[in-house]
Amino acid sequence: QDYRGAYQRDRDRIIHSAAFRRLSGKMQVFTGEMGDYHRTRLTHTHEVASIARTVARALRLNEDLVEALALFHDIGHPPFGHAGEDALDECVADEGGFSHNRQAIIIATELERRYTEYPGLNLTQEVLEGQQTRADKQCKGNAPLLEVQLVDCADSMTYDAHDTDDAVKLGWVAIEEMAKLALIRDALQEVRQKYTSLTGDLLRKALVHQLLDRQVRDVLATAGSFLATCGWQSTRDVRESSFRIGPSQEMKEQKAELEKFLYREVYRHPRILSVRTDAQTRLKELWEVYCDRPELLPPHFQGRAERIGVRRAAVDYIAGMTDRFCLQRHQELTRA
Ligand code: MG
Repeated sequence: QDYRGAYQRDRDRIIHSAAFRRLSGKMQVFTGEMGDYHRTRLTHTHEVASIARTVARALRLNEDLVEALALFHDIGHPPFGHAGEDALDECVADEGGFSHNRQAIIIATELERRYTEYPGLNLTQEVLEGQQTRADKQCKGNAPLLEVQLVDCADSMTYDAHDTDDAVKLGWVAIEEMAKLALIRDALQEVRQKYTSLTGDLLRKALVHQLLDRQVRDVLATAGSFLATCGWQSTRDVRESSFRIGPSQEMKEQKAELEKFLYREVYRHPRILSVRTDAQTRLKELWEVYCDRPELLPPHFQGRAERIGVRRAAVDYIAGMTDRFCLQRHQELTRA
């Protein structure tokens, strides 16, 4: 007897994939040299899955599908985050470019191998299609499933909160400085009503808790009241609607203000910029080595190079690397 539903199987197939495990060695925003407190791509993914499931249960969406989608959403990320993504994108710019969202689908349908009969992880159509709508976000057309919308929204709630946490913990920004932002100011006010004299680490943790809580409550209020009264009968109603699960207008503005601040003070911090330039140079050099000498690729990527061309196959191989493995390979293969 089958003791798992289809989306539970998706979740397990994702968790047991090599690409998922490697998320632990891939940076989210900060690298390993900057400490060991901050999020990696893997812990970010777990936080997204946890928040998304909580909201899914409250909204009575399909929790198993939400969990699978959340665990899958960043699986296509190359080493060195968006810096790595941009570098690989330049490498194959003439052949359609590189995007981590599209790469997730290539991983799930071509690169991972577990079955003798076919390549890929054999995920359900709902998970693959959900990821596809992430990949072509600009595309007009039918609305994604509510579960897909929710994971998107949970991703944003999660990184706004944890990037604030990590940046304050690293001392790159101060809570006092961030208090000029509406979302932080309101969250701090709520913290101080409860604990008047909180400082330091405990204040930071209480603030991050508030940031998540405020965003979750906001989405529950906005989406909850709509879904309770819309009278939808099937996914067709979802697909034909212009409704999207997301923050209220006020929260949207507050989040945009926070994100602008994080972009300026954290994502474009001199230490991140130097990691960025360095990683991009190394990724491109490594890619060129593999293009010139495809025999250096592992055997199944050599086969792939023969089928789809070495330029793209080398990108697929490099995109799967952890940050550390990528640096190691670069050092070994570019040493004079
Ligand atoms: Mg994410």
